[in-house]
Amino acid sequence: MTKNPSPPMQHSLDPIMRPRAIAVVGASRSPNTIGHQILSNLIRHGYQGAVYPVNPGATSVSSIRSYASIAEIPDQVDLAIVVVPKQHALAVAEQCGAAGVRGLVVITAGFREIGGEGVAREAELLAVARRHGMRMIGPNCMGVLNTAPELSMNATFAPQMPPHGRAAFVSQSGALGASVLDYAREFGIGISQFVSVGNKADVSGNDLLEYWEHDDGVGLILMYVENFGNPQRFLQIASRVGRSKPIIVVKSGDSAAGARAASSHTGALAANNDAVGALLAQAGVMRAGSIEELFDMAMAFTSRPLPRSRATAVLTNAGGPGILAADALAAHGLELAELAPETIDRLRPLFPEEASIRNPLDMIASADSAKYRAALEILLSDPNVASAVPIFVPPLGIRQQDVAEAIVAAAESAPEKPVLSVLMGRDGLPQGRAELHRANIPAYVFPESAARALAALCRYAEHRALPSQTPPTLDRIDVDGARAIIAAAHSTKLGEIECFDLLERYGLAVARPVLARSADEARALANGDDGTVVMKVVSPDVVHKSDIGGVMVGVRRADTAAAYTSIVDSVRGALGDVAIDGVLVQPMVSGGTELIIGMVRDPSFGPLVMFGLGGLLVEALADVVFRLAPLTRGDAEAMLDGIRGARVLGGLRGRPPVDREAVIDVLLRVSQLAVDHPEIAELDINPLMAMPVGAIAVDARASIVR
Ligand code: ADP
Ligand code: MG
Repeated sequence: MTKNPSPPMQHSLDPIMRPRAIAVVGASRSPNTIGHQILSNLIRHGYQGAVYPVNPGATSVSSIRSYASIAEIPDQVDLAIVVVPKQHALAVAEQCGAAGVRGLVVITAGFREIGGEGVAREAELLAVARRHGMRMIGPNCMGVLNTAPELSMNATFAPQMPPHGRAAFVSQSGALGASVLDYAREFGIGISQFVSVGNKADVSGNDLLEYWEHDDGVGLILMYVENFGNPQRFLQIASRVGRSKPIIVVKSGDSAAGARAASSHTGALAANNDAVGALLAQAGVMRAGSIEELFDMAMAFTSRPLPRSRATAVLTNAGGPGILAADALAAHGLELAELAPETIDRLRPLFPEEASIRNPLDMIASADSAKYRAALEILLSDPNVASAVPIFVPPLGIRQQDVAEAIVAAAESAPEKPVLSVLMGRDGLPQGRAELHRANIPAYVFPESAARALAALCRYAEHRALPSQTPPTLDRIDVDGARAIIAAAHSTKLGEIECFDLLERYGLAVARPVLARSADEARALANGDDGTVVMKVVSPDVVHKSDIGGVMVGVRRADTAAAYTSIVDSVRGALGDVAIDGVLVQPMVSGGTELIIGMVRDPSFGPLVMFGLGGLLVEALADVVFRLAPLTRGDAEAMLDGIRGARVLGGLRGRPPVDREAVIDVLLRVSQLAVDHPEIAELDINPLMAMPVGAIAVDARASIVR
């Protein structure tokens, strides 16, 4: 009796990633075709299931009996790789469905990527797959690969089989995927599964994240992404999966949220903002700026445990690289560990009497492998040291392999601490690298790469230590009241008063203004109170009121009539005979820090909430951060900490710190408002006056779509 090569299939993607039998439809006898290449890859790399070539014009391909159609194959086929010309793809998919095939990998191109008829063809292909309950990878892809020994499946046309390991890799570009598989071997990164998703008609990166979440053979997920089909779903899935398995993403292409005609600060700033950056940061996903960086990070993540803290020891045999490493660590927010006194005592015998012993530890050029091993072991035993970066520049007479072996031996003495090595030999990595890779110790050519990768490890460790959160449930929210205000709006632009009403329905504190329609009315409003007020023009033709003398702050109650006339005069002076509804008289709010909180709805990302330093300087400074709504409390906190000027919130030069809780509360309420009311396209609260206690909106605008 034959044994199945894999356990029973439970997940809908198992027939694709763990097939027991594969048909290659379009397997060709001519060696330079993709159909030939895929079949021969399956055979050459030792696929453990059965392979059936399908080719109507041949009786055998690559010495294997072939079939004229999928219907003739006598056995159950789990997966069909479709490599036929595009005009036959639909018919083949149909036949596969009829024959009981459960998964398709459609290599064939000529679908959505060519536009026009290709779009329709792709929709039909998907419909066929759905009708027969088949999952589908592609079309327009490079195939799938699973290195698990019980499968050993290379159903791609990439020439190389990467080494077996725990990293799963999904690529939106087939060609790039192939070169990554090549490099995987060179960098010692073991791959468990690889999927080239092509046009993602059915199976997307999100689906694969969910699939790999429950796969014990996958410990790290690498993604090359050109566009996120469903950013909100990615956020949900990646946030969850990323807590157990680190996710590293290279995103190419234009990252800014789509340019739009913006009528708010938030909209204008979003046009230049990296919405993808916001998405990845929020999901706790590591972002690599290049494929090289992806590898640098992957090496670190596939290797050893996560660091307990940012405190790092640097060990070197040359001063320059040691300083470079220290600078690079600092640039990435890492710290040079403060060595314990016992550590210094233990290190002393290794050094000349006069040498100063501190981190970075420079052992000078004469240090041999024995000295490396001893010093590294001592450093790693120091409780203040969370990780180590040994650097070696080969001087004459000391072999890089020997030092590599010394690093391996020392690292074994402290398996709970990451060790990222830097071998700066003129020949780059070759010598010594194999020794390090075998021991799962990453080896870099430059200190900068090691620092960057270690920083990613630290960020991930810190992210994972945070409790996972869901958006909070807020009190004092009047959804219907807000809906009524939006429904009653006369224009798509909401004025200040309508905005304040709306914000109050969501529990925000506002400096409620009163509208004066004449200088006399303004004077009447002065009765009874001698505090100061702020007066602002109200006009459908004015966007930024203070630009044209439309705002007067600190007006004494007695001077409101004169201020009214003066505001109307300066607006008319600047803009001519524009419509003026009147002038708002608003309580003056002093002693606050001006912040901006806004929202803009992106067609693909959904509502983006913005936070930053506000007031009149917002455009000049553009010190803002974005996150996707709905926000968790942790997201809101990260936004406050994420601006360049975060220290301003803590109180500068004797100013009291702002009420963080109140600002976080406003962010969460704006997020909720955006989620509850899709009609709101843009919203600016600028400024929000953040007080030592509380936060008050003093200016707001919004636009709606109906
Ligand atoms: P606009 O943004 O249309 O120019 P604002 O209402 O934001 O008009 O007013 C401009 C500036 O005036 C604010 O950034 C703030 O410095 C100040 N200001 C406005 N309203 C108040 C207020 N109620 N209390 C204190 N300062 C205010
Ligand atoms: Mg304003």
